[in-house]
Amino acid sequence: MKLVSIVVPCYNEEEVLPLFYDEITKVTDSMKSQFNELDFEFLFIDDGSKDRTLEQFHSLSDKDSRVRFISFSRNFGKEAGMFAGLKNAKGDFVVVMDADLQHPPSFLPQMYEAVRNGDYDCATTRRVSRKGESKIRSWFAHKFYKIMNKISQTEIVDGAQDFRFMTRQMVDSILGMTEYNRFSKGIFSWVGFRVKYIEYENVERAAGTTAWSFKGLCKYSLEGIIAFSTAPLAISSLLGIISCLIAFILIIITIVKTLAFGESVQGFPTIICVIFLMSGLQLFCTGILGQYLAKTYLETKSRPIYIARETEEIYKSKKNNKPEQS
Ligand code: UDP
Ligand code: MG
Repeated sequence: MKLVSIVVPCYNEEEVLPLFYDEITKVTDSMKSQFNELDFEFLFIDDGSKDRTLEQFHSLSDKDSRVRFISFSRNFGKEAGMFAGLKNAKGDFVVVMDADLQHPPSFLPQMYEAVRNGDYDCATTRRVSRKGESKIRSWFAHKFYKIMNKISQTEIVDGAQDFRFMTRQMVDSILGMTEYNRFSKGIFSWVGFRVKYIEYENVERAAGTTAWSFKGLCKYSLEGIIAFSTAPLAISSLLGIISCLIAFILIIITIVKTLAFGESVQGFPTIICVIFLMSGLQLFCTGILGQYLAKTYLETKSRPIYIARETEEIYKSKKNNKPEQS
């Protein structure tokens, strides 16, 4: 028998969880009869939700022994959720998917067929449209992928998602990357392996609201760039070289003007402008350096990526040891 672990990071997903559970059990039951060799476990991660997500996990694990869960001590972000899921999954294959049904469970049989015989190590979906998303957001997303692929050696496919069906070997390679600043899109592609892309039209969230604000996405994109490219550092060196060259040419022009034509050095405004430009450039470049230093600083602290407050084992043992109420 082969065990498939389905990892689902959840943050405030009480509304959508029952829908998700219904869908996923339907699909996995039919997969069980289609491929006789399969068993499933569902590993839900509660990323410090403020609603009744954890209570939902409790009742799911009460009625279905295949349901496992980890609840974080606070919100650590989806990246930490995925890491915790991959780390604790026991399966020969591991699936990572969102709870909001934007990653349709109906793709799972097709994805399993791709990795089943070892033709591929990972099957994933790629959105070919961004229907339902604002135009500005899509425009920025496309630009991000363009820039990222220009400045980074790690290729990140436009529209690729965190919906993945992976072999144990690939999961172990990902777990080998223990970095604190996790940018999964980069990590998935950095580890390599044979990846099958299944294209599909974007699906909108089944219920609830997205946790991502535009500002959050911008910050996440910057983190991706810093984690997978050192090009900004090179750009700051280049800017330094260019401004040195300009300064050098200006010095020569001034000397020639003064010596050959006897013109007095003039131009107080020019000097002010140059001072502003130069100090601006210097601060900009120091800022870039600072961003990398900050990330290095966080890495050297080697803080845990997540902290679990409760798991289904703790929950069940607490429940069994609870004194009977009279
Ligand atoms: N998520 C999470 N922690 C967070 C934010 C989101 O675990 O801090 C989960 C969320 O519950 C969902 C998935 O990550 O299952 C994707 O989130 P969302 O649908 O908000 O993002 P979008 O689909 O808009 O990119
Ligand atoms: Mg979503």
